[in-house]
Amino acid sequence: MFDPVDPKQSLPNLEEGILRYWREEDIFKRSLKQRSRGTANKPWDSPQGGDSEQYSFYDGPPFATGLPHYGHLLAGTIKDVIPRYQTMRGKYVERRFGWDCHGLPIENMIEQENNIKNKQEIEERGVGWFNDLCRASVQRYTGEWRKVVERMGRWVDMDWDYRTMDAEYMESMWWAFSELYRKNLLYEGHKPMHICPRCVTPLSNFEVTQGYKDVDDLSVIWKFKLLNEKDPTFVLAWTTTPWSTLSTMGLSIHPDALYVKALVNGEYIIFAKERLEDMLKESASYEVVDEFAGNTLVGAQYEHIVDWYGALPEVRENPGVYHLYAGDYVDPAEGTGIVTINGSYGEIDMEAAKKNGIPFVMDVDMTGHFTDMAGPYAGMYVKDAEKKLIADAEAKGKVWRKAQFRHSYPHCWRCDSPLLNYATSSWFVKVEEIKEKMLRNNAKTEWMPATIRDGRYGKWLEGARDWAISRNRYWGTPLPIWRNEHGDMDVIGSRDELMNEKRIRFTKITALRHGESEGNLIPIYQGKVPGTNLTQSGRKQAKELAKHFKNEKIRTVYCSPLSRTKQTAEILAKQIGAEVRVDERLREVSFGEYEGKTVDFSDLSFLKARRAHKLETGKPESIYHFEGMETWNAVAERIGSFLHEILPKHRSEHVLVVTHADPIQNIRSFFTGQDPMKLSHQPYPRYLQPYTFFWDHDRCEQMDLHKDKVDEIRWQGSACEKSVQLTLVRHGETDWNTVKRYQGIKDLPLNDKGKQQAAELAKKLRKQKFDVVVSSDLKRAAETAQALAKELKISVCEQWEELRERGHGDWEGQLVQDVLQEYPCHKLKKMSLNFHHNTAAKGERLSDFLARAETVCLRLLKKYPGKKVLLVSHGGTEKALRTVIENLSYEEAVNAQPEKAAAFVTSLNPFVSRIPEVVDCWFESGSMPYAQRHYPFEVGDRDRKTPPAFPADFIAEGLDQTRAWFYTLMVLSTALFNETPFRHVVVNGIVLAEDGKKMSKRLRNYPDPM
Ligand SMILES: [Zn+2]
Repeated sequence: MFDPVDPKQSLPNLEEGILRYWREEDIFKRSLKQRSRGTANKPWDSPQGGDSEQYSFYDGPPFATGLPHYGHLLAGTIKDVIPRYQTMRGKYVERRFGWDCHGLPIENMIEQENNIKNKQEIEERGVGWFNDLCRASVQRYTGEWRKVVERMGRWVDMDWDYRTMDAEYMESMWWAFSELYRKNLLYEGHKPMHICPRCVTPLSNFEVTQGYKDVDDLSVIWKFKLLNEKDPTFVLAWTTTPWSTLSTMGLSIHPDALYVKALVNGEYIIFAKERLEDMLKESASYEVVDEFAGNTLVGAQYEHIVDWYGALPEVRENPGVYHLYAGDYVDPAEGTGIVTINGSYGEIDMEAAKKNGIPFVMDVDMTGHFTDMAGPYAGMYVKDAEKKLIADAEAKGKVWRKAQFRHSYPHCWRCDSPLLNYATSSWFVKVEEIKEKMLRNNAKTEWMPATIRDGRYGKWLEGARDWAISRNRYWGTPLPIWRNEHGDMDVIGSRDELMNEKRIRFTKITALRHGESEGNLIPIYQGKVPGTNLTQSGRKQAKELAKHFKNEKIRTVYCSPLSRTKQTAEILAKQIGAEVRVDERLREVSFGEYEGKTVDFSDLSFLKARRAHKLETGKPESIYHFEGMETWNAVAERIGSFLHEILPKHRSEHVLVVTHADPIQNIRSFFTGQDPMKLSHQPYPRYLQPYTFFWDHDRCEQMDLHKDKVDEIRWQGSACEKSVQLTLVRHGETDWNTVKRYQGIKDLPLNDKGKQQAAELAKKLRKQKFDVVVSSDLKRAAETAQALAKELKISVCEQWEELRERGHGDWEGQLVQDVLQEYPCHKLKKMSLNFHHNTAAKGERLSDFLARAETVCLRLLKKYPGKKVLLVSHGGTEKALRTVIENLSYEEAVNAQPEKAAAFVTSLNPFVSRIPEVVDCWFESGSMPYAQRHYPFEVGDRDRKTPPAFPADFIAEGLDQTRAWFYTLMVLSTALFNETPFRHVVVNGIVLAEDGKKMSKRLRNYPDPM
């Protein structure tokens, strides 16, 4: 029954042989396919799994910054075994590999590699520069990971992976964020938090728990001299952060505990009775002269160890500073039983300071250095400054004792710097508010080992604190909050919403494959016009899909000239009221001599040969592609030409493109820049499956939600006292205007008619008062402005170069009509070139022209807030200004051509801009249940309350994730869906390195597993 076993069999060779067999036969993907029988009625809505029962598995994304180690192998094996078993039981188990691409791990790596010392250096060199480095490095180790994952025999789809830095993933994060905001589970708070002074960002409480280490620190017992005493009397107060004593504003004493007053060397000292022995162990002789409860001293005033803080206004004006206060939290058995209160650098301290109404003085910046406030210690790192501070105070007899002590202190989990407790602003998720729900959801889960659920994990949930999710960093998902200091605030939850705030900058494209056609059923190669018709089912699918686009205001559907795409486009267009345009470049791949033929792909040995051929050649064409057919590159070229031509024409619009499977892959590659080879290994586009993209015209690339890209996007807030009252005026006529020659930045003076127009306008405006007239520096505008200023008696008259007309290079001086004949602009109702979507040779891009208009707006807001400004410019400039101010669509802008010397009144309000923070990368990995599926943006998602395949039937990770990934999953799924994100979880122990430490990519303390 079995072949005899070769006793000399090399096990590694045997394994390699099996792996080769799996690869050639594509066993993993076929095992998935086997479980996805038939097709659903709505293919775009069906899980890949078709009819089989699904078993949902979530892969926790590793940080993409290092190589896999033995801990990953152990967890990876567990992640492999269970899904395999469930597949054997007949279930469909999708397994997508994920990558955690953002956050401190990668930022630290890039900083080290580029010798970047601090944040300032990053900002000087540019956030875009830094983020590009991060982006380029993120996928550095994917090849190595693949080798290890395949070698260990794990079945997981590394072609169809998810990456937290992809536009779709980030869009789902924005959705989650806006949902939390809508549910009132998000707030901005000013709290003491642990910050990393090197990374210059606050960390969450669970990040802090990852980095506790035993360290030696200095504790100091200060002598604070009591005022209003006959004899020199000092209270002894202790601190474990001596640097914070400079800005200490009060002392806390336990009101009920006993304190003693002792005479030592002619001075009286006061401290807790319990500490008597320890306090006086170094004193040869002493005498205890008094004993009293702590509240006797409450209200006593003392002299601070330094005097200049007393001069700060908030200190000088606060009668409560430098007094003793009652504090129940003070432990009379520790230190001296009297502690310093500094509200800026500790949570208990902050509460004590608040309660007693004493000020918070921040004399340290976020990098851990003293500010100018600290006098002689300014500019020093606090830990360095503290030695000098103690020495200086000792010289003045203000130190009773100092001592080294060993304690467990938190360090940055990424860069090992000791953290500082520091009050700062951050955005928080209200975890405490949903704690009960989290516990209830946890009760629905099953753990292996079982004790972790209510033990380590459950206890952690019970003690959960509000989660600080904002990071003052760069490479992460930006918090989508735009606001200004006048009370406007917008939380943006999708790319659609962002596009809606800046309509002219973007175009939305949805590309889809045609519906099922007769030829697809056989199947035959059909790349030539007309090809076969849609089947009944194909027509039905198209009608069904159209419903989803009803509210999208789509006016144009482009399609390939073949029957199946044309028919699909016509059905869609009819339902949504759009116009169909056939474009030759969208046609199917040309199949050469295979045209009209059928190939038997049910022959398994033939299929195997085709797969082997693809593996061997390493080309992106599918296995159905033969010699002589049109290549990927040829299709890419015509698709690129099509998109580059149509995109500029459809600024502000949503356009549908109906084409075929292979061109769809090319369109995906065009927008996302993904490796065609990788795309070709991902699931093939299904009938009518929509792929949506946003094109950013300013950057000529796909809309990217990273900080360096979105921070430059601003828009107008609401009217307030800082708004500029703007009256826009176009110059009077010139000789070129008369004959309709495009002037651009050619400098022509007004002609007689133009002068007369200016004079008439002045008459019209005579009743109004303006604070200032600003004009373009070109003669035709400047002359108009001077005429108006003179007539209206406006004393301030400025000329700004930024207000010039759009420069059109070679088009300048030509007749508008001639140019339009050569370069038609279909949106134009009136003859004009200034908003033409094309850029003339040596001309200014429309995007640059609009950016110039925005500069003008910002300059006006800064220079003339609340003023009435008369602004004289040009036809194009006025449109550009109005586009920026009123968020006009491209079509509205093109046709908003002002008349010569006519006035248009508008209000220019302060802009909202994005807050600078990015989100904690643990928020991102905790978002994978919805973000890996781009929920809720895929077409079928609108009818769902939770993402497809949610919650997971099974997840697995190491024990360290109870306070990390397992935790963030639970917080976010409870907050968003009030449901547990997983049902079963297997937790493995931590594989330690030989040195007994945790294996760490960062420390590189383990040998190469390969
Ligand atoms: Zn750090």
